[in-house]
Amino acid sequence: MAINLEFYNTLNRKKEVFEPLNPPNVGMYVCGPTVYGDPHLGHARAAIVFDVVFRLLSHFGYKVRYVRNITDVGHLENDADGGEDKIAKKARLEQLEPMEIVQLYTDQYHKAMDALNMLHPSIEPRASGHIIEQIAMIEEIMENGFGYEKDGSVYFDVVEYNKKNHYGKLSGRVVEELLDNTRDLEGQDDKKNSVDFALWKKAQPEHIMRWPSPWSVGFPGWHLECSTMGAKYLGSPFDIHGGGMDLLFPHHECEIAQSQAANKQDPVKYWMHNNMITINGQKMSKSLNNFITLDQLFEGDHEALDQAYAPMTIRFFILQAHYRGTLDFSNDALKAAEKGYRKLMNSIATASKLSPGEKSTSDIPALVENCEKAIKDDLSTSILISHLFEGVRITNSVKIGEETISKGDLSLLNKMFEDYAFNILGFQAEADQTGQGVIGPLMDLILDIRQDARVNKNFDISDKIRDALTTMKITTKDEKDGTSWTYDE
Ligand SMILES: [Zn+2]
Repeated sequence: MAINLEFYNTLNRKKEVFEPLNPPNVGMYVCGPTVYGDPHLGHARAAIVFDVVFRLLSHFGYKVRYVRNITDVGHLENDADGGEDKIAKKARLEQLEPMEIVQLYTDQYHKAMDALNMLHPSIEPRASGHIIEQIAMIEEIMENGFGYEKDGSVYFDVVEYNKKNHYGKLSGRVVEELLDNTRDLEGQDDKKNSVDFALWKKAQPEHIMRWPSPWSVGFPGWHLECSTMGAKYLGSPFDIHGGGMDLLFPHHECEIAQSQAANKQDPVKYWMHNNMITINGQKMSKSLNNFITLDQLFEGDHEALDQAYAPMTIRFFILQAHYRGTLDFSNDALKAAEKGYRKLMNSIATASKLSPGEKSTSDIPALVENCEKAIKDDLSTSILISHLFEGVRITNSVKIGEETISKGDLSLLNKMFEDYAFNILGFQAEADQTGQGVIGPLMDLILDIRQDARVNKNFDISDKIRDALTTMKITTKDEKDGTSWTYDE
């Protein structure tokens, strides 16, 4: 099964031909959200990028098991094993049970993901459901000499590990430099070296989320859950591990160290990372007040937003950029995306109703080939979208009679839109444009009434209908076989 797909592998810092370990099966693990707040743009980008990877692999015949976890315990406020557990803190502030917080924000996350037309992962495991497996992994790490206990907590010995392994192979960090940079912190906790990280933390008396273990009543370190659940559901090693660039260090570096220390095996063949989102050129953060949740975007309910943006506008906007580049969010960029997306959807609807001619004036098979080439070249969604717009151009030229398209090429063009716009990029036509739902038939009825009114010279009624449709941003066009309508672009 050679499909010549290439991905950029962060581990080797280059594009590589994708060759799964056990074809046609592919195992993919993506770090999911820590569910202590509303889902935001950062969540959307990571989820959309790997949703496209999932769709792409499935489209080309792989049997993909896609695991995306829910972090519901162990993620502390800062990466150096300090501060409160994010979920426990939110629970304290809102006076709820931690698991109520988890349920609330897991539901919010799912709702937003469904709105963005994300396929569900094959398995969505929770950290708190895998405490037994995490304890077993800590025991293996300790048996192999890479973990030590101090006062009920267990730490990973990075310096010991780095003697025979390479801590930093993914992120390019160097242990000696990390030690130099963090020397000030030494002696502030129970760690042997400042670079060590927690595998198990003893719970303070006020800490609510706690489980028994051989070392103390406590909770697992954040990095451990992904090592454990990845190996449990996908085996070791598995094919693809994805996540945002912000997780590369320390989270993913620690995952590699833990798995290597426990199983004596590099856990993952291809590491893929999507880049971050900035807002008007600035990093997104709660303190800059530019932290926009997905609900706020969908409802236009944030001072940084001029208007509401539909989930498909967001999806289109995110996929218009290559996943490894940064992406800057602004109202202007979003409005342009909204316009572009409508244009694409209007043309796809038009293409499905075109009449074929004798021959084609454009090379449709070459266009389809270009689409395939783009998406297989490290997920170049931006280039793929530009090819789809070549399809838009051809569609519109055929429609006004400037070009012709043969019957075979027309069905190829429609299949191209179906495969690449809908199945792989995961766009969704508004139900009424595909003839589903009630809007389509209602529009037909309204346009019929308008036509009758005009025939009977009842211009009050026909003008009233036209004006109302204009306010609804619907354009009508009188053509030889009746009146057609589209959303304004
Ligand atoms: Zn993770």
